Amino acid sequence: LGTAASALEEPIAPPVQVKHTQLLIDGQFVNAASGKTFPTFDPRTGDVIANVAEGDAPDVNRAVKAARKAFDVGPWPKMTAYERSCIMLRFADLLEKHNDEIAALETWDNGKPYEQASLVEVPMAVRLFRYYAGWADKIHGLTVPADGPYHVQTLHEPIGVAGQIIPWNFPLLMFAWKVGPALACGNSIVLKSAEQTPLTALYAAKLFHEAGLPPGVLNIVSGFGPTAGAAIARHMDIDKVAFTGSTETGKAVLELASKSNLKPVTLELGGKSPFIVCEDADVDQAVELAHFALFFNQGQCCCAGSRTFVHESIHDEFVEKAKARCLSRVVGDPFRKGVEQGPQIDQEQFNKILRYIKAGKESGAKLVTGGDQIGTKGFYIMPTIFSEVQDDMAIATDEIFGPVQSIIKFKTLDEVIKRANASRYGLAAGVFTQNIETANTLTRALRVGTVWVNCFDIFDAGIPFGGYKMSGTGREKGIYSLQNYLQVKAVVTPLKNP
Ligand code: ADP
Repeated sequence: LGTAASALEEPIAPPVQVKHTQLLIDGQFVNAASGKTFPTFDPRTGDVIANVAEGDAPDVNRAVKAARKAFDVGPWPKMTAYERSCIMLRFADLLEKHNDEIAALETWDNGKPYEQASLVEVPMAVRLFRYYAGWADKIHGLTVPADGPYHVQTLHEPIGVAGQIIPWNFPLLMFAWKVGPALACGNSIVLKSAEQTPLTALYAAKLFHEAGLPPGVLNIVSGFGPTAGAAIARHMDIDKVAFTGSTETGKAVLELASKSNLKPVTLELGGKSPFIVCEDADVDQAVELAHFALFFNQGQCCCAGSRTFVHESIHDEFVEKAKARCLSRVVGDPFRKGVEQGPQIDQEQFNKILRYIKAGKESGAKLVTGGDQIGTKGFYIMPTIFSEVQDDMAIATDEIFGPVQSIIKFKTLDEVIKRANASRYGLAAGVFTQNIETANTLTRALRVGTVWVNCFDIFDAGIPFGGYKMSGTGREKGIYSLQNYLQVKAVVTPLKNP
């Protein structure tokens, strides 16, 4: 195994090696039952970083058995909420201690700029675990007034074994969004990482055991979707599934859950979020924010502001300035200082993005800048802008998941509301205006799970996130995520002497 930062002229990350490649089941690193492994690649070069154990249905079964035992027998359910909270806090401390090493591993496996991984993603995961550690001992039911001589109470109990399937765009943060609330509520977990980015989940889960998590509470099965992922979705002994990924796969997961044991499913799916720049906007600020909203994380965000609606009165100036901003965007080795954009995750996504760029050109949109790959090694794509985009073009309707901004002109507020809402997705929206009336009108009219006004991608642990329409069901983060991992039990007792 090489070291991630070894080829750098100016290394800004610590050298990091891959320590864990096996499945983590019942507190032990083990090989897959089949003995199979799969390669995980460095998006900068396409080279293999490591071969990782490839979990499949028998491994998921093994993990579910361990999770079941940990949940049904113990010691996990016998621990107090405060003890669970302390373990989560100790884990957060360990994550923080290893911040730079985990960030380097993330960059190596995913291609995102190291500066963003180390300054944003890992610290956000730490913050999230501390947030949910705070909730662990504050989860409780109610006493309910009854119409007769009864004492009525509700118990908020953990739902049981949670199956969790996560994507590759924010591997550690998605791990945190899933694992944090599930453990705070006292569940046990079988988690499948994305096949493109299996490394940080294994590293983090190992640290969780060092923090005192009992064996079997958190099991990690690396592997592919149709095998290991589907085995989780249809498992008869898994009580709940949480999924983040594409809308298409979300449908498959929901179908498997309904065909098996009707486990409740929460889904965080795709998006095509409008970013609406109103006529009163400061153009320079709007350009910068719209640029961030789309290009952050190589454009690989489910909530990316990928339909940039710009009022006609400032449109031409906006397009010129957006082009200049794209041309100044620093694309390159994500381990280098100052790099804003690294490679896309893999060959498949790279090809898909280039296909959309081609479709954009062919559909008559105007290519303002970019429009091609960069170099021949790795999965780098030029920051790309199309203007004169029409609502029915594929680049305006489909989730591209890459650095391709579609600028769309509008005239009136009513019109932009209708057009922004005319999408099968409803994940998020950005609104850029200095007029409070305009902001209020838009925030109420947009059918989306998050509206960022004069900001974008603000992801505090307490802010709920999730979609309307085909962007998903349920909310993650904040108090809302706890509901996903709890059952409510009503207990009714007669009062003899009311
Ligand atoms: P993408 O196309 O961006 O890779 P996916 O929705 O396919 O997004 O992947 C998100 C997660 O879902 C990954 O962990 C992947 O392995 C998993 N997955 C893919 N197909 C299935 C499936 N049929 N059942 C369960 N999980 C799946």
